[in-house]
Amino acid sequence: MPDRLIATPPVFRFAPSPNGHLHLGHALSALINQDMARAAHGRLLLRIEDIDTVRCRPEFEVAILEDLAWLGFAFETPVRRQSEHTADYQAALGALKARGLVYPAFMSRSEIRAHVAAAEAKGSPWPRDPDGSPLYPPMDRDIDPAEAAKRIERGDRHVWRLDMAQAIAQVTTPLAFEETGDGEKGSLILDPTVWGDVMLWRWDAPSSYHLSVVVDDALQGVTHVVRGLDLFAATPLHRLLQTLLGLPAPIYHHHRLLTDNLGRKLSKSEGDTGLSELRASGLSPVDIRRRISLA
Ligand code: GLU
Repeated sequence: MPDRLIATPPVFRFAPSPNGHLHLGHALSALINQDMARAAHGRLLLRIEDIDTVRCRPEFEVAILEDLAWLGFAFETPVRRQSEHTADYQAALGALKARGLVYPAFMSRSEIRAHVAAAEAKGSPWPRDPDGSPLYPPMDRDIDPAEAAKRIERGDRHVWRLDMAQAIAQVTTPLAFEETGDGEKGSLILDPTVWGDVMLWRWDAPSSYHLSVVVDDALQGVTHVVRGLDLFAATPLHRLLQTLLGLPAPIYHHHRLLTDNLGRKLSKSEGDTGLSELRASGLSPVDIRRRISLA
């Protein structure tokens, strides 16, 4: 008898960071995820991205869960909380270390700033990543591994950075991804080198957003990443990390962003768009959908 093919449902995820309260922009993202998951007969998972232990707080997580429950979400449990899975990110970093694709970087933020300012004073602008941060100056890449090990041993503060040139040299297939969102669409091939030697492991928090997001999407079997257009530029970097770590590529959908009346992206501190404030003012979940132009 031929094996019967069992179709596995698509998996979507909403992945807020508990570093503030949810606002209308988060509601838009969560609800677009819900609509797309329902249309595809898929599952929608919640993931709490609390890897940044400096900025994330348990009371924000409680508030996020309350706001989502009020909006009508009921997520599968247990919810994945990144802070409980550092071993997974450590393993991914270890795999990159074993292949010589990351290096310990010792320059502090102020040393980087001073280096960039000195270079720019000579006349040419220093390259910036898509978030506007200066690319990491390459000197630490050349520190002798024995010397670097000695510095780590004596407790010098360091982070781990991707050696972008080495990483790109290892990739033999185009870093394509399928994009179905509100910006550029289709099968896209974009250049991850614009991020330079990106930080993958912080000194003040385990892992980094870029590393943990690709590890989690793979471990949770996420097939569709639906998130705001502000993360579109990070996607080629995520495709590079997925390729280096042998992880599958989800389909991406980067949706429109909500802006305030000055055209700025909504931020977590904006009271008048906060979901709990809107709820307290008597709005219903249906009103919220209407406010953000979702049918
Ligand atoms: N945790 C991120 C945020 O709150 C979202 C990350 C993602 O969807 O990839 O902006």
